[in-house]
Amino acid sequence: MTHSATSFSRAGLGDEIGTQLLTTDTDANPTEEAKWDQCQQTSMALRLDGKQLAAQLEVRLQQQIQNGMASAGRSPGLAVLRIGDDPASAVYVRNKEKACARIGVESFGSHLPAHASQQEVLTAIRELNADERVDGILLQLPLPKGLDETPLLAEIDPNKDADGLHTLNLGRLLKGEQGPRSCTPAGVMVMLRDQGIDPAGKRAVVVGRSILVGQPMALMLQAANATVTVAHSRTKHLESITRQAEILVVAAGRPEMIGADHITPGCVVVDVGIHRRPEGGLCGDVRAEELEPVAAALSPVPGGVGPMTVTMLLVNTVVAWCRRHQVAMELSDLVV
Ligand code: NAP
Repeated sequence: MTHSATSFSRAGLGDEIGTQLLTTDTDANPTEEAKWDQCQQTSMALRLDGKQLAAQLEVRLQQQIQNGMASAGRSPGLAVLRIGDDPASAVYVRNKEKACARIGVESFGSHLPAHASQQEVLTAIRELNADERVDGILLQLPLPKGLDETPLLAEIDPNKDADGLHTLNLGRLLKGEQGPRSCTPAGVMVMLRDQGIDPAGKRAVVVGRSILVGQPMALMLQAANATVTVAHSRTKHLESITRQAEILVVAAGRPEMIGADHITPGCVVVDVGIHRRPEGGLCGDVRAEELEPVAAALSPVPGGVGPMTVTMLLVNTVVAWCRRHQVAMELSDLVV
């Protein structure tokens, strides 16, 4: 992936935040510039199309696996451990297994009943840690009541931690050390980079401070040299904070809580939220229709962050496989 050296301003906005959001040091990419030109002409936000990018990255992952097979002698393997019968979790796990099959990663799904004990889950994790065919392990959350997720996540071999949620890997992120990264925020970073949106020197606001999304997102943006503010449920006057953002990432889990009043025109908005509307269909944490005419870029729901999350799970698994077998890595630009 290359990045544009473009500076941009939304047509007619002329404000400070609307200018120079896109600046990197590398050569201009005509395709990205064309997309920006089109976006300015139509006065609609650039669509941060995670679905399309995920499909492109799957081709690269597939290629990496094919190129590494001779030296590795086996395919990469991902084990998704599901406990109980939560229907949403069953769908997520199926999607992950389908994605594995598309690119040539072997799935070692494991399903325990809802009444499984803490000890039984620990034993299942230890078996996967010891399984030579497995490069990535994911414990599907949420867990049924009665199971304590913290010691279970801590039991996963940190080098097989496909979700990047192990305490050691969160510490590595904090210290800027190499390690698997949390998939959702890593997917956001790759999506921004793909569009030449460089956080360096920008004001970024993250709404949400969960360990799954908000906290690692803030650390990744900071590592990319943004100046980051984290807002949460106790933040007062949220609008006055989010309006300062040049890059706004919303991961509050509140349907359509962010509208045009919350942003300054020209802001790049990433919507992490995903909700099922009572009347059918999906929505995110932002009111997309309101933001489209004012934001510089916006990730759609569905088709934005969601597909990138699954792709980064595959990236973590394939990168772990490359490292275990000293396979020449062609994915360095995806290691956030
Ligand atoms: P979470 O654990 O519920 O955390 C939500 C965060 O938002 C908390 O830090 C909370 O603050 C904050 N918050 C809640 N209401 C707020 C408000 N009115 N104003 C400001 N902050 C508020 O959720 P999560 O796991 O981070 O997920 C967030 C959303 O992203 C959910 O919709 C989830 O489904 C979605 N998600 C999507 C993907 C994907 O792949 N697309 C992946 C993961 C999550 P406190 O800390 O003060 O409670």
